[in-house]
Amino acid sequence: MTDPNRPTCTICHRPLWADEWHRFACRQCERRIADHLDHLPDLIHDLHGLLTPGSRRALDGPIARSSAEPPAPIRLDILDRITAAAAVLDTWLADWHDHLQWPSPTYRTDPLAEAAAALRTNLPWAVEQHLAIDDFAQEIADLHSDATGLLDPGKRARRIGHCPAPAPDDPAQACGAVLRYVPGAATVTCRWCRTTWDAIDLGAALALAV
Ligand SMILES: [Zn+2]
Ligand SMILES: [Zn+2]
Repeated sequence: MTDPNRPTCTICHRPLWADEWHRFACRQCERRIADHLDHLPDLIHDLHGLLTPGSRRALDGPIARSSAEPPAPIRLDILDRITAAAAVLDTWLADWHDHLQWPSPTYRTDPLAEAAAALRTNLPWAVEQHLAIDDFAQEIADLHSDATGLLDPGKRARRIGHCPAPAPDDPAQACGAVLRYVPGAATVTCRWCRTTWDAIDLGAALALAV
């Protein structure tokens, strides 16, 4: 039985430990965000390798190229992801600077990597002080799983069943939202009720429920 007065993590909704009561997010959620921020710059950098559809032409056999032939078109969907990732990180960093009454962020050479590093550095502040830390966590997780899925289709999130947690608006019912699992991830989070499980425990629970 959970105590309705006990504060919960705004990201995974688990009750906070007594030494976490001054925080909006639990330590486990903080670690997950930090991990995503650590990996994002390399993931987004690797997306550049998908910008031109490279090997497809070679598979089609030799093509007599004339010098007038236009270069292979750039994949705009990939370019969009790269641009969006940089914009998301910059927007959040500017927002945090604003909260802290710091001047707007500036970047020297690599805005995306520098913004990710600055967000990582200030994450301990944000989990304690920033009301929208759950939105931030979700956007960063989305960028991470999008990029991972594009780079390795085997790691694309797949549907694994329906959420067995109590529904937020009616605890007598199961939430029932579709759960997606990113292969290799340690946890699964329901996008609707935000319950987070250990992936192995959830796998066992869903298998029993069938
Ligand atoms: Zn949490
Ligand atoms: Zn749910």
